[in-house]
Amino acid sequence: MKYDIVIVGAGIAGCMTARFLSRYDLDILLIDSADDVGTGASAANSAILHSGHDPEPGTLKARLNSEGSRMWSGLADELGIPVKHTGSYVVAVGNDELPALDILLKRAEANGIPGARIVSGAELREKEPLVNPDVSGALWTPTAGVVDPFAAVLAAAENAATNGVQFRPETAFLDFIIENDSIRGIRTDRGDIECRWVINAAGVYSAEIMHLAGVRPDYHIVPRRGEYLIFDRQKITLDNVLFPVPTDKGKGTIVSTTVHGNIMIGPNAVKIDDSDDVSTTAAGMDEVITSARRLVPSLDIRYVIAEFAGIRASGYPDRDFIIEASVKPRGLLNIAGIDSPGFVSAPAIAVYAVDMLRRNGLELREKEGWNPVRNSRPVFRDMTHAERAEYTKNDPAFGRIICRCEEVTEAEVLAAIRSIVPARSYDAIKRRTWLGTGRCQGGFDYPRVIELLAEELGIPVTEVTKSGGKSRFVFRATKDVNDER
Ligand SMILES: Cc1cc2nc3c(=O)[nH]c(=O)nc-3n(C[C@H](O)[C@H](O)[C@H](O)COP(=O)(O)OP(=O)(O)OC[C@H]3O[C@@H](n4cnc5c(N)ncnc54)[C@H](O)[C@@H]3O)c2cc1C
Repeated sequence: MKYDIVIVGAGIAGCMTARFLSRYDLDILLIDSADDVGTGASAANSAILHSGHDPEPGTLKARLNSEGSRMWSGLADELGIPVKHTGSYVVAVGNDELPALDILLKRAEANGIPGARIVSGAELREKEPLVNPDVSGALWTPTAGVVDPFAAVLAAAENAATNGVQFRPETAFLDFIIENDSIRGIRTDRGDIECRWVINAAGVYSAEIMHLAGVRPDYHIVPRRGEYLIFDRQKITLDNVLFPVPTDKGKGTIVSTTVHGNIMIGPNAVKIDDSDDVSTTAAGMDEVITSARRLVPSLDIRYVIAEFAGIRASGYPDRDFIIEASVKPRGLLNIAGIDSPGFVSAPAIAVYAVDMLRRNGLELREKEGWNPVRNSRPVFRDMTHAERAEYTKNDPAFGRIICRCEEVTEAEVLAAIRSIVPARSYDAIKRRTWLGTGRCQGGFDYPRVIELLAEELGIPVTEVTKSGGKSRFVFRATKDVNDER
């Protein structure tokens, strides 16, 4: 089969682009080297829908951040994505940091951010009693919020799939097939694929991929790791998003609520050599805790239940987002350098990319019956007792809790495995259902989830993986061990 478009990379940029392109009469294939959508930077970030006060006015980042920010509310309704409309504060501690707020306010105004204003320390302390008593003021932007990043990527991918986009996981792009200066296809580790256009949305690998086509040889991605800690929501909560005053290293370590009600702190920013190195470090944790305590001094690390790291795909020397169609070869659109605020910008990135394809000669005919709506699945933990009883009456699998901390049921796990973009590993189920993210971090649910995956996928338990590839849980049956004795 010859595709009109192959999208390389199923992060938020690739999946949103697939979703917006799915309204047109095109054969589209989305590939990712991972076993699922949304496993790169899109799975490990601050999850803030930034208002747009931070990017340098006049840049593509500033434009797409504010456009994206305006799109999320409607999109979240259409695609069933959990979003919390929190607003955000950039917090000045002590009088020395106050002048920075005026500069940020001017930037917010230049970027057209509605409702931005400076509030006093007293006003912020009233809204957020946990904040440092030495807070002198804050920049308040009411249009910021937080999103469930896993749900967002999945929702875009599922809606794209409903509208005909095909998804091929565990398929790594290797090279382009180019004839007469035009894209004819790509080579992957699972064979060649013919296509007219390639959209390179490969995150930290986007520069390497464009180099294979001879595009922008001097442009590089500098991977910068950011580490995070998550707190037990039974122990400490906060309803706001608090940024420190930014430095030349970036927006700094935030203290934020998540859509699920946990406090999350991080990230730091460390340049790394290995673009896949998502390890967390003792030094990084210390740095994050020290910085976060400047904003909320009472953070008690005994209540930390998880840590993780994500990698920013920061472009160099051009620090802006790069979304451009190459002249040679024809048929390549690069979406690169999508570091923060790439998540909030993603819907606007997608619209910009679609427009760029149109301007570069791709015929976009709207197809009949395009369905922009994706219904979210029922979430047992959010139901009333009456709803729980009703759902369980109709489907007894709702009565079997698999993850006790997060109250995830067997029915939700089965729905994740049977989805149009199916979960095929433990982590893929975790991203879809939030199972294993609570206090016991999966201690209770692992065996049953492994069994369900084996049953549903028709494979032995020894082939069930945590995250694709060779990440298996079970290596042999205990009986074999006994037999060997
Ligand atoms: C620490 C941190 C904090 C952040 N905080 C925020 C925030 O609060 N708000 C915000 O708006 N943004 C934030 N961001 C930025 C945001 O997360 C990213 O801009 C966004 O997720 C990038 O999406 P993407 O699709 O471009 O890349 P990714 O999500 O990384 O997706 C790229 C995909 O390409 C695939 N891929 C790579 N190479 C190949 C290949 N050869 N073949 C096939 N597939 C391939 C990968 O497997 C991956 O799935 C943050 C980022 C980080 C790291």
